[in-house]
Amino acid sequence: MTQGTNLPRVGGYNQAVVLDAIRTAGPVSRVELAPLTGLTSQTVSNVVRRLLDAGLVTESGYAPSSGGKRRTLLSPRAEGAYAVGVQLDPGAAVIVVVDLAGEVLADRRVKLPDGAAPADLVARIAGAAQRLTARTRIDPARLLGIGVAAPGPIDGPAGDVVSPPNFAGWGRVPLREMFATATGMPVAMDNDATAAAIGERWIGGKDRAGSFLFIYLGTGVGAGIVLNNTVLHGDSGNAGEFGHIAVDADGITCDCGSTNCVGPYVSPAGVIGELFTLHGAAAAARIGLTGAADGVHRDWKVLRQAVRRGDPAACDVVRRAGRRFGQAARGAAALLDVSRIVLGGEAVRGIEPIICEEIDAAVNAMSVARVIRRISVEPSVIGEAVGAVGAASLILHGNYAPGWRMLTKP
Ligand SMILES: [Zn+2]
Repeated sequence: MTQGTNLPRVGGYNQAVVLDAIRTAGPVSRVELAPLTGLTSQTVSNVVRRLLDAGLVTESGYAPSSGGKRRTLLSPRAEGAYAVGVQLDPGAAVIVVVDLAGEVLADRRVKLPDGAAPADLVARIAGAAQRLTARTRIDPARLLGIGVAAPGPIDGPAGDVVSPPNFAGWGRVPLREMFATATGMPVAMDNDATAAAIGERWIGGKDRAGSFLFIYLGTGVGAGIVLNNTVLHGDSGNAGEFGHIAVDADGITCDCGSTNCVGPYVSPAGVIGELFTLHGAAAAARIGLTGAADGVHRDWKVLRQAVRRGDPAACDVVRRAGRRFGQAARGAAALLDVSRIVLGGEAVRGIEPIICEEIDAAVNAMSVARVIRRISVEPSVIGEAVGAVGAASLILHGNYAPGWRMLTKP
């Protein structure tokens, strides 16, 4: 892939804070930026000058006049920076090219062979990413790097994935280093749910400012946590292991050995299994499910279509999953004091209304929540590509948003 960028990093924390404020609140004037960032107007002025020189923000018009001098408005400059995002799942990878404004310029889904070695998967994805990037004709000097959203668990500081349950036979795989070698670009990696939460924060602007819990459903279930605009990683980079929150046990054993983890009850494979158990093979045949171990992706699509048609058996098992989501979300929301829960990921497409309804009922039934504030439960603003877009935003966020990287690696 094209060699990495020569753009100067927006060095320092203040620049990142100002750019993030422009992205989140923009279009916004210099005068408004001072109270938003807690910086003096002189500092804001200097920082904005540097952001303009670097081509990362643009003067986008004037605020309505209130008598005095008209204020120039600032917006992020979409073509100021780009990143590639990769969402890695068993069976497929989704690749996107995203600009600084969060617009997806190109996207592709690459099928991956079952049981392939990590090196083979990385080579296929790197090649596809290179072709996709070439197609967009963006300025290569402004392509900052490649973000990877990987299934957990990960060793965050090392950049490794460690025995992910959905990739049979994988031990400790140095995925970040492998992508860096294959692409020649800077690589940022995070677990898929946390990457999705960062993407949601990055794209969502005012609607995703503050604190929220992002519940992510792909092949498995996870969560990303944003508290007071800061992404929570935890000591090992695995904060938000939502799938292992305990709910009422009903006979399914998790990869971790427990019988009451929410994950296996609400994952696509679990819900499909529940349909066979509760409604029988006749209902499964009516819906068009195969029940094959290697047909989960297809079966899950068929089941969601049946939900949209109003099939009673399909709706029943999805609603049961929704109730378990709700049980787990209630505990998480009580612990975190978030006023918003966001639901996203490729696997929730089409069933968000039922799942959101059940989570809403569960989390807002708590008296403490009712008295203090109602928790809003909403689908992702990004949609099904949230993992890949989130991965791309790891690069843009890591470079430009006031996050943990800025503080730990000044
Ligand atoms: Zn578990």
